[in-house]
Amino acid sequence: MTWQILLIESVYFLAAALFILGLKKMSSPVTARGGIIWAGVGMTLATLITFLTPNLGNVGLIIIAIMIGALPAWWLALRVAMTDMPQMIALYNGMGGGAAASIAAVELIKGSSHSLTVQTLAVLGALIGSISFSGSIIAFAKLQGLMKRSVIFSNQQILNLILFLVTLGLGAYVIYLGSSASITLIMVFFGVALVFGILMTLPIGGADMPVVISLYNALTGLAVAFEGFVLGNAAMIIAGTVVGSAGTLLTQLMARAMNRPVSNVLFSGFGAKGGQEATGDSVEGNLKPIDATDAAIMMAYAEQVVIIPGYGMAVAQAQHKVWELTKTLIDRGVRVKFAIHPVAGRMPGHMNVLLAEAGVPYDIISDLEEINEEFEQTDVTIVIGANDVVNPAARKNPESPIYGMPILNADKSKNIVVIKRGRGTGFSGIENDLFYADNTRMLYGDGQKMAAELLQAVEEL
Ligand code: NDP
Repeated sequence: MTWQILLIESVYFLAAALFILGLKKMSSPVTARGGIIWAGVGMTLATLITFLTPNLGNVGLIIIAIMIGALPAWWLALRVAMTDMPQMIALYNGMGGGAAASIAAVELIKGSSHSLTVQTLAVLGALIGSISFSGSIIAFAKLQGLMKRSVIFSNQQILNLILFLVTLGLGAYVIYLGSSASITLIMVFFGVALVFGILMTLPIGGADMPVVISLYNALTGLAVAFEGFVLGNAAMIIAGTVVGSAGTLLTQLMARAMNRPVSNVLFSGFGAKGGQEATGDSVEGNLKPIDATDAAIMMAYAEQVVIIPGYGMAVAQAQHKVWELTKTLIDRGVRVKFAIHPVAGRMPGHMNVLLAEAGVPYDIISDLEEINEEFEQTDVTIVIGANDVVNPAARKNPESPIYGMPILNADKSKNIVVIKRGRGTGFSGIENDLFYADNTRMLYGDGQKMAAELLQAVEEL
């Protein structure tokens, strides 16, 4: 018996070390793949060793539950397109929160007599896990385009506040009653927490989804850690804390990238409106098309070219062609740099991952603060599939849902060439006056096709 517990605790310790080292490796695109494998090995070890727990019951049911979770997840992960990855992350965050809440439900309904601290942690984990579960499902539906990016109605904030206070009150009552809390009361508590998660996420829209997704990630980690205390499971406590703290840091980084405090993202309903209604006034000017040959001439004879990739480059899978084009320009003596906005694409680090996959060296990739000074001396800026992250309305139009978000100042460069397929808006659903500016030309077409045409045109010069 004792050797089993000793072995389990030692493997949990090893798993914890693997989680932390894996996370460390994930901080760079070069080592990130290895980091995911390390953390995955840690999780597999922790799961397998748990089967040695003395007097473990329901082994058959546990294996069936693992199969029900693992097989569809494996099947989906193999098939999901890179561009749909954020929805999948939102869904898996939700599942983590739901799992933590389910553990809490079992513990509370069983009515085991816990100490006040453990009962409080179980209720807190239930609350946070439920909010994360239902909120993440709404985030998934929004990212998947199954529902409008934001739903707002009058007195929404007041209703949310009341609901939150009711949830807290019910939770406090469950803690107070301890093992004598009735199943009905516990179910009502869970129901209200789930509804609160839905209502809290409904009004969030515009370009704020990255902050919400990372916040739910952090909350899921926290809920798992709390339930780890309830079950006395060290692996859950450590894994949950690691996810919770990494998610909190990511939430802060994403909120900083939007130049907004997290509270403002969650409670202001700001950025909820999309489209022309939200931009205030209409955009002036004309869209001026250019063909690949003329754009290639501008680039080939420039001193400095800056390339701004966005979500459309991911959709088009254009990163390899863009890198080939870059190498050809560098061979001709042009200085080429990539500018990456922290929320470009649909997940944190999306553009870094794509450029790393294509083999772009890090020393020509700059982030927002580094590159923004340089646009005025840049001859040509190529915007490929980016939209919101270069929208000057964020600087100029207080009515805009993205007002205040730092952007890449592409509009300050001498010439801008925008590669996109048509008149599609970005994620926030608003028009972009950069496309109508005097110094902007539109190169219409799929990102990969246009990058290939530019490459061919530069090679023929
Ligand atoms: P946007 O979503 O603002 O714009 C993408 C543009 O790409 C569209 O205007 C579209 O225009 C164009 N496009 C789509 N497909 C192609 C294609 N095959 N070839 C060429 N162009 C294409 O992207 P950004 O990267 O600028 O901004 C990211 C947005 O997503 C921000 O609002 C951010 O807040 C949000 N977001 C970010 C997350 C993150 O973690 N990074 C997570 C969730 C949301 P057209 O249809 O005309 O081609």
